[in-house]
Amino acid sequence: MPTTYTDLISDVRKRTKQISLEELRRRMDAGEKLTLVDVREKDEWRAGYIPGAVSLPRGFLEIQVEQKLPDKNARIVAYCAGGTRSALAAATLQELGYTNVETANPGFVRWRDLGFPVETPPELSDAQRDRYSRHILLPEVGEAGQVRLLKSKMLLLGAGGLGSPAAMYLAAAGVGTLGIVDADVVDASNLQRQILHATSRVGTPKVESAAKTLSELNPDVKVVPYRERMTSANVERLFADYEVIVDGTDNFPTRYLVNDASVWLGKAVVHGSIFRFDGQVTTFVPERAARAIGMPAGPCYRCLYPEPPPPHLAPSCQEAGVLGILCGIIGTIQATEAIKTVLGRGTTLAGRLLTYDSLRMKFNELRLRRDPECPVCGPKPSITSYIDYEGFCAVG
Ligand SMILES: [Zn+2]
Repeated sequence: MPTTYTDLISDVRKRTKQISLEELRRRMDAGEKLTLVDVREKDEWRAGYIPGAVSLPRGFLEIQVEQKLPDKNARIVAYCAGGTRSALAAATLQELGYTNVETANPGFVRWRDLGFPVETPPELSDAQRDRYSRHILLPEVGEAGQVRLLKSKMLLLGAGGLGSPAAMYLAAAGVGTLGIVDADVVDASNLQRQILHATSRVGTPKVESAAKTLSELNPDVKVVPYRERMTSANVERLFADYEVIVDGTDNFPTRYLVNDASVWLGKAVVHGSIFRFDGQVTTFVPERAARAIGMPAGPCYRCLYPEPPPPHLAPSCQEAGVLGILCGIIGTIQATEAIKTVLGRGTTLAGRLLTYDSLRMKFNELRLRRDPECPVCGPKPSITSYIDYEGFCAVG
């Protein structure tokens, strides 16, 4: 049993395998699959770390290790500034059942002096670290993911039933720029479901009301209001700056414009719609968007419905009722899809239509297939310019 610090360290060094920085560099360059664990304090980490390392300060080692290092047989190399803390950490990891742990000796200080590659973490302010701490704790988001969200730009079509919950969660999540397209003013009959708005703002433009709610919720978010209706004349201008489109409008003219623009400009579209007690969501990921975000492509809307129905067959939706809460479910699923798309995490609803029946409380899924003869996204497109379809109603 060691009795002094010197004894303890020499005992630990005997029990843990040490590797030199040169060897570590050589193995990294050779593409060896290893998990680098940086056990220094957070402020040391912020000043720079070895590329690819996982931050696991020694003081939190036992608490966070299972979450951050789930595989107990992974090849782990721990490092600190000089090699002592990482040796102690490596001994602890072995006691916790990790079977393949090494420690770098010396550590990061020498690594930097040798001119070996160093990465610095993306910059978040202390206030942002605090605000987004529950995101940062998720390894799938982390600081890098949060910085990505803060740099992301999403366009919401409609500040109504679906746009409201979607906008609120996207703003809360720290999506840096939220464009909102809506030409309407707030009506008292909107307030049963359009939670962006308030009784005191009946009669004011929805985009203004939305901007007020969202900037109070999160001042990190830049809200860009577009008080206009989408047409073939403005769709490209509206889409140009944004990477993901969250479509909460539910009318045929807009749906086809959004689809054609998204295919031609390469934007992912998260589409939601609601009717009475039922809702549905899917994510359209055209080929070009799929390449940009590194996710699989899926069908476009015209793969499913090449042309809108004739006006006399279109559902008359002007007076249709809707369970207000339904908007919360569908709009929030849309926001989830938009966040995943930007982060490049998980599997989107590309190629799947998720349906929700609130009365029976059932979710179902329909497979959507790409049409090789699609008039827009197929190899020989027959539609190559925007079409303004007229004569359909819209659900608010
Ligand atoms: Zn298509």
